[in-house]
Amino acid sequence: MLVNCREVSHYDETPVLFRWVWRLESLELQPFYRRTRRYPPVKIPEVNFKEFTNRCVGTIVGFAIGDALGMPAEFLTRDQIRRYYGKTITDFLRAHQGHASDFLPSGSYTDDTQMMLATAECLIECQKMDAARQGDALLSWYLNTVPHRTPMRANMRACKHLSTGRAWTKSGVFSGGCGAAVRMPPIGLFFCQSPEILIKAALDDCIITHTEPRARAAAVAVAYLIARLAQATEKCSPGDQVLETADRVAHIDEDMAALLRWVTQITHLPPEEALFEIGCSADALEAIPAATYCFLKYPRQFHNAVLAAVNAGDAADSVGALTGSFVGALAGVEAIPQSLRRQVENADLLAAVGERLASLASSAGAQSMAS
Ligand SMILES: [Mg+2]
Repeated sequence: MLVNCREVSHYDETPVLFRWVWRLESLELQPFYRRTRRYPPVKIPEVNFKEFTNRCVGTIVGFAIGDALGMPAEFLTRDQIRRYYGKTITDFLRAHQGHASDFLPSGSYTDDTQMMLATAECLIECQKMDAARQGDALLSWYLNTVPHRTPMRANMRACKHLSTGRAWTKSGVFSGGCGAAVRMPPIGLFFCQSPEILIKAALDDCIITHTEPRARAAAVAVAYLIARLAQATEKCSPGDQVLETADRVAHIDEDMAALLRWVTQITHLPPEEALFEIGCSADALEAIPAATYCFLKYPRQFHNAVLAAVNAGDAADSVGALTGSFVGALAGVEAIPQSLRRQVENADLLAAVGERLASLASSAGAQSMAS
């Protein structure tokens, strides 16, 4: 356990022996990625409304575009992507025949964006986190949006529980997948001015489907990082914001915090090597660090970041979506190529959702309504 001598009260009255014990403990004799960095209390910088709106739209649109670019690469390896499509993915494609998403036109997103939009629309309607209503929104997706677009198993099981009448507090399953984390970007935007309320909202929303600690840590990590990026100024370093996010989730799952810290140390590696080491499956301990790496590698270059994510295959839709939303949150919608913005499914709806979230998050009453 780390003990900072300066924070121990009555330090001057402590016997000398104990002072040395505390000092030895404070030497932090642990691997660097296990250390807990101490940050000053969060100070929210001022970002003007136009820029903030630009970033909120970038978050939502970037998410859907990353999802749609990854859709044909989901479940595939790097080699299979080249074999089926003759090249690496550089634009929207239709999934190859026999793929679970082969019925979708190019530019279509998958279940990740559907659930993210359900979360956003529920926040906009309720203007607060109402977990019971969020559960209803997910149940409505489960019952009415068919065929489901390669849905995650944990989400399906939790929705099945909801459909049998279980309350949202009892519907979640013990899964460490990223299925809850991917619906967090709207929560990050909506509660960006109140980190403590944001964390509670993210956890409440997460347990509707996922109760495992790494899934909960992933949910908080995505919401918190989106909130910080959407309000970042020129002086903010994306790497520091990821480290701060790691600190925020360390008490929920230490492994998630350790992996987030680790990816800040390997951004010099080429994507192929780094993503091989991190893994790109739908496990929260792979998907969130993988997306964070791609974002840190190219923090303001949407195309490079998202293509690095989707060409690794596996959970390409989820990793691509998270990468796109991180870059969009920092660099704004203008960093996203216009051709992609035009061709993505429901482009107008995505932009409108981003704008509405921006206006609610900025309104003076939003944070009090949240509580
Ligand atoms: Mg999906």
